[in-house]
Amino acid sequence: MSLDTSTLYLVATMVAAMLGVMLLFFGKQENIPALKWWGTAYLLGAASVALWTLTGDTFGQTFSLALNAVGFVACGMVWNASRVFHGRKPNLPGLVLGAITWIATGMMMAPQGSAMRMTIGAGIVAIYATLTATELGSERRRTLQRRWPTIVVPVMHGFALMLPILLGDLSWPHDDTFSSSTWVTVFSVELVLYAVATAFVIFMLVSERAVTAHRTAASMDPLTGMFNRRGFAEATSRVIEREANAGRPVTVLIFDIDHFKSINDRFGHPAGDEILKLFAAVVVNTLRITDLSGRIGGEEFAALLPCSLEDAVIAAERVREAFESSGIVDETGPVDTTVSIGVAGGPAGTELEVLLAAADTALYQAKRGGRNRVEAAEELPLSLEKWRRKTAGIARQPQERSDVARVA
Ligand code: GH3
Ligand code: MG
Ligand code: MG
Repeated sequence: MSLDTSTLYLVATMVAAMLGVMLLFFGKQENIPALKWWGTAYLLGAASVALWTLTGDTFGQTFSLALNAVGFVACGMVWNASRVFHGRKPNLPGLVLGAITWIATGMMMAPQGSAMRMTIGAGIVAIYATLTATELGSERRRTLQRRWPTIVVPVMHGFALMLPILLGDLSWPHDDTFSSSTWVTVFSVELVLYAVATAFVIFMLVSERAVTAHRTAASMDPLTGMFNRRGFAEATSRVIEREANAGRPVTVLIFDIDHFKSINDRFGHPAGDEILKLFAAVVVNTLRITDLSGRIGGEEFAALLPCSLEDAVIAAERVREAFESSGIVDETGPVDTTVSIGVAGGPAGTELEVLLAAADTALYQAKRGGRNRVEAAEELPLSLEKWRRKTAGIARQPQERSDVARVA
């Protein structure tokens, strides 16, 4: 079977152009700028290779040099697309540097230096492929295991283009027509594979990001930008496990804004929302960056601190003071912003639910003790079921105390 190389190239460019249209369409629909960059790169690349295949040297050296230069701009756009995908600015000098290098070499070098020119051209493509692979592989939040196609595909592409240069004349007969026509066929097949594999990688990255975005949205509270109850539980479970492995204690704080209902009643619900945002900011700014916090209910917040109970009580006191002195004033006078806080700590490995239950009891005591204060739990529940029944009982009979373990 003989394959006509021009036909092969046209098929390759048609596949690339179709993928380009698809990427552009999807980028426009979903408003993802990186996809528009990738789509345009595909179209430019396809156009440059198609025109070059169709026209050959018909319009002279300069024209085919310019067509190749467009191809290199397309390579630069693929790299810039991955920069944009990671929220970085496009690198415009880098985008055109390959094309400029190519044109400069073409103008300086005599046509007989075509082997050298081919080396330089393949080198430019390989550099862009390496830059793309480095950029796509650089997102540290992801494990490299799932990211391997993002690196492997551009590296393979660069490698395939460098292959004739790496092998040189070593393994091919010294027959120009044989080796060049073989490589031309190999490249056309490689072009299709690369175009399809890259589109696959792009969609993989985009869908991965969409999944992450949805997952994040499901664990965030839109009003305060904090974790919601679910996000807090997920994030804390990781920290609790880490601290348990290290044999370190963790502490839970539960905050409940005092008389919040009356703030709503006096100033309206939107003003209440502002107070909630203010409190969230106070918590985040007052606690350490290693502490986790979230909004676990209407005007209830929680935090997990990887420290001892004594240190957590000091931190809670700082939050209480900061919120009290936030100085909110209304036309009718200052608005009382106070919070009651329950703190509970446990030995390494204590479950979140157990700590929350104990902190809740301490919070209840803080409320009963007059609000605007911090109370630390003295005991941890041994059995959550019995504890819940018991704490419901305490509300009626404060003296009743059994089935609890002292934290010592
Ligand atoms: P206490 O000092 O005993 O905690 O009194 P409280 O008024 O703060 O407690 P209560 O549980 O009686 O009232 C909580 C109020 O929080 C009732 C509810 O309308 C309000 N709330 C819950 N979620 C939101 C919200 O998202 N925005 C606003 N503005 N108010 C909310
Ligand atoms: Mg409440
Ligand atoms: Mg309250």
